[in-house]
Amino acid sequence: MLYFDESYMLFIGKSQTTFYDEVAFHSSCYQLYMKEILMPFKLVYYGNEILKDVAEEVKNIDHKIIDLIDIMFNIMYKEKGIGLAAPQINIQSRIIILDITMSDGPSMALVNPVIIGISDNKESYDEGCLSLPGISADILRPFQVSVKGYTPKGKEVQIDADGLLARVFQHEIDHLNGILFIDHLENYQRKELTSDLKKIKKLNRL
Ligand SMILES: [Zn+2]
Repeated sequence: MLYFDESYMLFIGKSQTTFYDEVAFHSSCYQLYMKEILMPFKLVYYGNEILKDVAEEVKNIDHKIIDLIDIMFNIMYKEKGIGLAAPQINIQSRIIILDITMSDGPSMALVNPVIIGISDNKESYDEGCLSLPGISADILRPFQVSVKGYTPKGKEVQIDADGLLARVFQHEIDHLNGILFIDHLENYQRKELTSDLKKIKKLNRL
């Protein structure tokens, strides 16, 4: 990813005549990036054991973690999601990303995120998940949460969130603890999804 960034940086200050050469260079770098770096990473689906595991804390936010966050954003945008946790691409690390700019919210990555406070008032919302394509369900969760974590630059932050942002934080941090949104359903509700879940499991073999 590094060379891709560097080529992008070259854009700055270039004259119009070299612009199209740069675009071609940029585009070939991007294709290489997609082929060699992004391709080995792909979404895992319900049924894959990694989605049941507790992810490990990131000890050091080095260039590998930064590259991984970049890859996660690429996959999330490709799949048209608004949030993604590292275990969903088969990486057992406590990293989440989200982008709710379409709802005037933020786009961000958080390393080692922890929920340090929740509100008593709860809200129900129709949730989906990239690891459970095609199904959604109303899930009751606290309306507000306070989350602590580290930015990709290693800065510790605390975020007080409500509404959709609070929802996405809870959904993604659940992934780091081996919990899927369907785990919040009553048994009878999950049973109704049995045939859909069987189909989703098969996606892991593709
Ligand atoms: Zn999910």
